[in-house]
Order: sequence, then C-alpha cells, then structure tokens
Amino acid sequence: MKWFSRVAAWLRAYGRGHNFTCDICGREVFGGERICAACRAALPVISLGCPVCGRRVGEPGVCAACKQRRPVADMVRSRFVHEGEARRLIWRFKRGEKYLARTLAEEMAPLLRAFPGADALVPVPMTARAKRRRGYDQALALAQELSEQSKIPLVCAVEKRRETAPQKSLTRREREKNLEGCFAVTDRKAVRGKRVVIVDDTYTTGATVDELAAVLRRAGAAAV
Ligand SMILES: [Zn+2]
Ligand SMILES: [Zn+2]
Repeated sequence: MKWFSRVAAWLRAYGRGHNFTCDICGREVFGGERICAACRAALPVISLGCPVCGRRVGEPGVCAACKQRRPVADMVRSRFVHEGEARRLIWRFKRGEKYLARTLAEEMAPLLRAFPGADALVPVPMTARAKRRRGYDQALALAQELSEQSKIPLVCAVEKRRETAPQKSLTRREREKNLEGCFAVTDRKAVRGKRVVIVDDTYTTGATVDELAAVLRRAGAAAV
C-alpha cells in the first residue's frame, strides 16, 4: 500500500497549495482565490476610514471619536466592518476553523502598506489557559500568516499574565482597569527602537490595543 500513502501525501500537499472552494459559500473557485467574486462583493470592506483609528467614516477626515480621544497606538487599520459575512468569518475563525487564518491574512495584507518600514508584527497575546481552552491562538495564527506573506518578522515579545473579564459589559474606565498590567514585555531587546505592528482579529473599543501599545511604548518601541 506504499503507493497509496504516496498518493495521499501528494494530494494533501496539492490541497494545501490550491484552493478549490470559496471559504464563504463553498462554491467552486478557480485561480487559487479563497473567496469567490460574489462573496467578495458582499464583504463590508472599509474603503474610507479614519486616518487615525481606521474605522469607517462617511466623509474624509479624522472621526469624531478620535477628535475627542486619540488611540494610544499611532495608527490603526482594519480591513472590514464587523458585520455581515466579515463578522461570520471571524466567528468561524474563533470557533475552530483555524485554516481561515490564511484567508483573513490575505485580506489584511494590503493594510500593511499603511505601515511602511515596519520592523515587527506582534500578535495580541492570550493567556496559556485561554489558548488551551480554544486550541489555538488566533491572533498568533494571523500574525504568522501575515509575516509569511509580508516577510515582516513575527515577534512574540509580550505575554498576557492574567485572564481579564469579558470587555463587553464594561464602561471605558472599567475596561482600562480590567486590562491594567495584564500584558508584560518578555523580550525588551526585540521591541526597543522598533516600529511595531500589533495584530489582532477584531478591533472593537480599542482598549486592548491601547493597553498593549502603552506597554510596547514603555519598552521603547519607536512606533506602534
Ligand atoms: Zn463564495
Ligand atoms: Zn478615528
């Protein structure tokens, strides 16, 4: 049965490099794309975003939220609004469909043009316990794929030291308190003087990225 395992191995290798069906609707696709044209047209891509926080805006310029309070990070970019098929993709990605990391990273990759000269991709870390519960670390999976595609080094120089309460029901102040001190830089040399891009699957209130950006700044990051 040696030939059989050889064929099986070849098929697996071929399958990894080639995509046959759309990751959203499951219809056949050609030319290696992961999302078919019809599904792509329905994705809520942010074509006009706030130059600071990256959220969708109706007219060019800094959004009202950023005029009141700037994020701690220099700049944030998101590919999609968290709604419709984009929301469903993220939901599936967080619930076991790890292979979607590649699809999502391909979607995110063009955003890196907004960060010329970036030295490092730093995924938002999760605690070891949360990782065991979920089976994998989705921000890390995205950052790995993005690093492979962009050749910007993946730098895992931060750890999450404790669990934090779900942010949803908390006020801004409570969120900040909740996150205070939860991240720690484990490798300062990897961060000092570097232009760092934080990678995560979802950007909601920005409190998590704010806290992580502050920690990276204190460790000497040149830009976040
Ligand atoms: Zn489709
Ligand atoms: Zn903004």
